[in-house]
Amino acid sequence: MDEHKSLRDTKLYVDLEKFQTNIHLIRKLIGDRTRIMAVLKANAYGHGLTELVKPAVLAGVSYIGVATLAEAITVRECDESVPILILGYTPEHLFDAVVENNITQTIFDLDSAKKLDQVSSMKNRKTKVHIKVDTGLHRLGFSDMNQSLEDISAINKMKNLNIEGIFSHLALTDDESNEVQFSRFNNFVQALEERGCDFKIKHLADSIATVDYPKYRLDMVRVGALIYGVRGFHKGNVEVELISSLKTKIAQIHQISKGEGVSYDYTWKAERSSIIGTIPIGYGDGIPRNLSNKGYASINGWKCPYVGLINMDYAMIDITEVPGIAKTYKDKDVIIYDDSDSTMDISDISKITGTNKNDILCRITPRVERVYF
Ligand SMILES: *Cc1c(COP(=O)(O)O)cnc(C)c1O
Repeated sequence: MDEHKSLRDTKLYVDLEKFQTNIHLIRKLIGDRTRIMAVLKANAYGHGLTELVKPAVLAGVSYIGVATLAEAITVRECDESVPILILGYTPEHLFDAVVENNITQTIFDLDSAKKLDQVSSMKNRKTKVHIKVDTGLHRLGFSDMNQSLEDISAINKMKNLNIEGIFSHLALTDDESNEVQFSRFNNFVQALEERGCDFKIKHLADSIATVDYPKYRLDMVRVGALIYGVRGFHKGNVEVELISSLKTKIAQIHQISKGEGVSYDYTWKAERSSIIGTIPIGYGDGIPRNLSNKGYASINGWKCPYVGLINMDYAMIDITEVPGIAKTYKDKDVIIYDDSDSTMDISDISKITGTNKNDILCRITPRVERVYF
């Protein structure tokens, strides 16, 4: 662990070995014939994009998926040759950079295909694209209508575009609606194939679908949550483990009397004389403010509830019960989350704060040092 450059106690520890193990476990689950796309958008779900590209490629993924052009270029700077798909929208005036960096672009309308073909032609390049189909999510994608069949056939004839793949995205509402989306996708692809299109990579499954619906895996799975060890599936199983833990250390302690308040507005008042620890982590680091007076941090397996409102830079925890803490607090790790039993994990935090697990990970701000091991 590269600790000597550290300037702060509040750190996100990222286990790159677990990250690669998770990818190997996914490979085992899906077999050798289906490609794996590692989805590294949003700073690799908060874990740090640049540090995760090489480990992902070495673990055998065939594609890196990102959300934005900036993310795609960052990946390209880390690896000259790995295929990169921008899963969504890129403004047309930025297509130069898509072409120059050899990035695969998602296409969901005819006009942007024309423009990308033009830009590619000017640069004497052939740009790979994946066609996105809207089968019900109504986010991005060609509608599965006749006009789209004509548009995509036209794109298929463009000299400087190469349609490598076609995909859709599930709403994951229930089995029945998934099945409706799956058959809309298949029917649409089949109609295009009858018109002479040929798709090397058809893909539909995100992390949950990859585990729960084997038949949706097709030629490639697009896994985000799963590679970081976030388990959202319900039917199948794969033993991926959370690759990160968030820790800090106590900055100061206060002995307070029964009846005294803590933090802004005194939303918490001591019901007994208490020892309060102040930790240098707050919503400015990405821990949700509505964890205030709800969740807990952990020291040596002892649960230490957050007391009073969480601030931008600090939170206060009740450490009264932790044996000997007044003398030893400077040495103790305070665990905000990890995977062990006596601590909160990502799932606990997301439930308490009323959001999903990915949201909690993505919120961790750049101010938190990332430590890779
Ligand atoms: C983000 C994203 C994924 C990955 O989703 P997970 O649930 O994290 O696996 C897959 N496909 C698309 C189109 C996405 O935008």
